[in-house]
Amino acid sequence: MSIKDAVQNLLGGSDDASAATAETPDEPPTHVCQSCGEEYYSDPEMEIDTCRSCGGIKIERL
Ligand SMILES: [Zn+2]
Repeated sequence: MSIKDAVQNLLGGSDDASAATAETPDEPPTHVCQSCGEEYYSDPEMEIDTCRSCGGIKIERL
């Protein structure tokens, strides 16, 4: 095998490998309000004291 073939393999051939997969990762919510069901996508380590939607204080950490 020549070095020219190796370079051509590197440059071509794999165009559609890394197209589109990481736009909106389908992650589960980190917290959910037990009163109104408001879902939070936040730092799982964080504690949410008050619901931003209903003002409730029962925010369950998932
Ligand atoms: Zn709520």
